[in-house]
Amino acid sequence: MRLIILGAPGAGKGTQAAILSEKLNIPHISTGDIFRNSIRMGTELGKEAKEYIDKGLLVPDELTIQIVKERLNKDDCRKGFILDGFPRTIPQAEYLEKALEEMGVSLDVVLNIHVPDEEIVKRLSGRRVCPNCGASYHVLYNPPEVEGICDSCSHKVVQREDDKEETVKNRLKTYHDQTEPLIDFYRNKGKLVTVVGQEKLEDTTSNVLKALGVS
Ligand code: ADP
Ligand code: ZN
Repeated sequence: MRLIILGAPGAGKGTQAAILSEKLNIPHISTGDIFRNSIRMGTELGKEAKEYIDKGLLVPDELTIQIVKERLNKDDCRKGFILDGFPRTIPQAEYLEKALEEMGVSLDVVLNIHVPDEEIVKRLSGRRVCPNCGASYHVLYNPPEVEGICDSCSHKVVQREDDKEETVKNRLKTYHDQTEPLIDFYRNKGKLVTVVGQEKLEDTTSNVLKALGVS
């Protein structure tokens, strides 16, 4: 399956993408994760991306498109993929259309996870992530079994720099201005499926699986 997951920051794209990736046995490609890894490793890409990410702005299209291009060319993407956090602008979506055409394939579905803004702010302020394995938690809605410690790898969980309140506001504005137009873009192509994000992540998952016809 070739799938895109759309949604505001904190809508739960990453969580659902990880679950689907395992179920469908196809790679989960998160541009946010790629940037964060590059930042951690101190690469040139990381240094440049950090400037934008810390302000709640999008990394420029040319840079983002380049990394996605490299990733989609790897062998494991031949059987399908889940794009999480890409595309985020109309030019990125147009690039993707062209790239897939060149690969001789097309998208199966664009899953839009809808969550209202007030809910987003609540979610992001309580979000904690594991810097070691990437697992994601919420202090109220989805706490780790032992407070502050990752269930999967026992590393200490942290708050992402860009989950601080001021940056969250900017990210939401960026989302409405630049990413939300993709909803119509894909609706017009007949590819859009919308699921409303639920408070419990398992409830969202079961709605997602139903909507995609995956069991
Ligand atoms: P979230 O969806 O919670 O905002 P991500 O991990 O997807 O988190 O992205 C974190 C940040 O990385 C974004 O705020 C943005 O600065 C940058 N980023 C990720 N994907 C893209 C993209 N496709 N285009 C431009 N910037 C991106
Ligand atoms: Zn972990």
